[in-house]
Amino acid sequence: MQINRVLFIQASFHADDGRVVKADRKLDRMTAINVAELGIPLLAAYTPKHIQVEMVDDALEEIPWETPAEVIAISAKLIQRSRAIELATYFRTKGKIVVLGGYLATLSPEGLSDYFDALCMGDGDLVWPQMLADIENNCLKERYRADHSVQIDSVPVPRYDLLAEKSLLLSMRTSYPVQATRGCPHDCSYCCITNFYQRTYRYRPVAQVIRDIKAHGSRYMHFVDDNLMANRAYAKELFREMAKLDVLWGTQTAIDIAGDDELLDLAYAAGCRIVMVGMETISQKNLSEVNKGWGDAAAYRNAIRKIQNKGIGVHALIVLGMPHDSRETFTATVDFLVEAGAAAAEFFIFTPYPGTPVGDEYLRAGKIIDFDLTHYREPYVVFRHERLTSREIQDAFWGCLEQFYSLRNIYRRLKNGGLRNRKLQIVLNLYYLWKIKRRIVPTHFQRGNFLKMSYPSTPEVVNNE
Ligand code: SF4
Repeated sequence: MQINRVLFIQASFHADDGRVVKADRKLDRMTAINVAELGIPLLAAYTPKHIQVEMVDDALEEIPWETPAEVIAISAKLIQRSRAIELATYFRTKGKIVVLGGYLATLSPEGLSDYFDALCMGDGDLVWPQMLADIENNCLKERYRADHSVQIDSVPVPRYDLLAEKSLLLSMRTSYPVQATRGCPHDCSYCCITNFYQRTYRYRPVAQVIRDIKAHGSRYMHFVDDNLMANRAYAKELFREMAKLDVLWGTQTAIDIAGDDELLDLAYAAGCRIVMVGMETISQKNLSEVNKGWGDAAAYRNAIRKIQNKGIGVHALIVLGMPHDSRETFTATVDFLVEAGAAAAEFFIFTPYPGTPVGDEYLRAGKIIDFDLTHYREPYVVFRHERLTSREIQDAFWGCLEQFYSLRNIYRRLKNGGLRNRKLQIVLNLYYLWKIKRRIVPTHFQRGNFLKMSYPSTPEVVNNE
C-alpha cells in the first residue's frame, strides 16, 4: 500500500472514572509543552519525505478522529495501555494500520498484538523506516526489536518545527528536547531504562548534538537523557562546545557528579541550571537492595551543597515505600532534604515495573497486588510491603510533598542550600506549592483524584480488553 500520511499520537491515560486525562487550562498546557518529549519529533525526522506527518499529544489536544492518515503510530508508557488500546481499536475499525512503540511495547508486550498491527520494541528511530517500508511492501511483521548495540552517530535533526507549531498554539515558550546519550551504565534493579536499552550506554558525536541545539534555535532546552554525565570525558567535551552557545537547560544525572569540580564548572558555563538527581532514598540498605550500592547516601548532603554552590539547583528524586522503609523513614527523609537545602524534590511511590528485575522478583514472590498497568503511577501502591500498609505509603506521598513544600521549608531550603541564583528556584517552588494546595502532583497537571481534569472517552468504541 502507498502511505501518504502518518499520524503520530502520544497517548494520554485513563483516570479512575474511565475518562481520558486532559489538560484543560492554558497554564497546564504550557507546563506540559514546556517539557516536550523527543520521541515523536525524532521519528518524524526519520519518516521518508514523500510521507506527510502530523503529531498529536492526546493529553493536550483533540484526536483528529477523521484523519486521512493511513498509518497511526502510537507512543505509550505502561500506564497508557488501556488508552492506547482504545485508540488502536477505533482507528483499526476505520481501516488504518496501527503500530505501537515506547515503554509499553518494550516492557510489557503480552497481549498487545491483538490490538496493534505491529509493535516497535526499543528505540523507534532504529526500526521505524523499516516498518514503513514493510507497510508499503505489504509485509509488516508483528514485532520489531531495535538493536541497541549499533552506534548512534547518524541521527537526523528532530522535527523541531512540529514542536514550534504546537508552541505557538499552546504556549509562549517551549523548552526543546535534545538528546546526547542513550541508556545508562548502571543497572538499578527497579529501573526501566536498563531493560529498554538492553543495558547499553551510548553517546552521540558532540558535533551532532551541537547541530541539534542550533537547529531548534531556542535559548531554553532540556536533555532527555537518563544519565547525561555518566561518561565524564564525553560530558566535558560536550559542555565546552555548549559554552559557546547561549542556552539554559536541565537534565537528569547521578549524584556522583558532585565529586568532579571541573565537570560542575563546565556544566554551569554550558548553561546547566537544574539537575534531577535520582537519590531515591537516604538509606544505604535500600540502595544496596536495589543494586544501587554505588550511591553513597552518607555523602548526599555535601553533594547537594556542592552542586548548588556551583549555581546548579538539585531536584532530588525520592522513592517512597522502598523495601527497608518504615513509618519513620518519610519524615526523616524530608527533614534531611530540608536541612541539606535541596532546591526541589519529586516523590514517587516504589513500583515494581514489569520487565525489571524487581518486577520479576516481586511477581515470583507473590507480592504484586494490582496487575492493572493503569495503576502503575502515583498515588497507587501495587505491591505488598513487608512493614507498611498501602495507605501508609500513599499518605506519606502527600505528606512528604506538603512538608517539603511548606512555605517555612521552602524558605529554609533556599536560604541554606548554598544556591547562587535563587530566582528560578523561588518561582518553581511557589508554583509547586500552589499545585500541592490543589492536590496536584507538582510535575503533573492533573489532580490527585484524577477526576476533575478528565474528558469523555472515545465515543463509539467498544473496549474489548
Ligand atoms: S542510575 Fe538512574 S537511569 Fe541509571 S539504572 Fe539507575 S535509576 Fe536507571
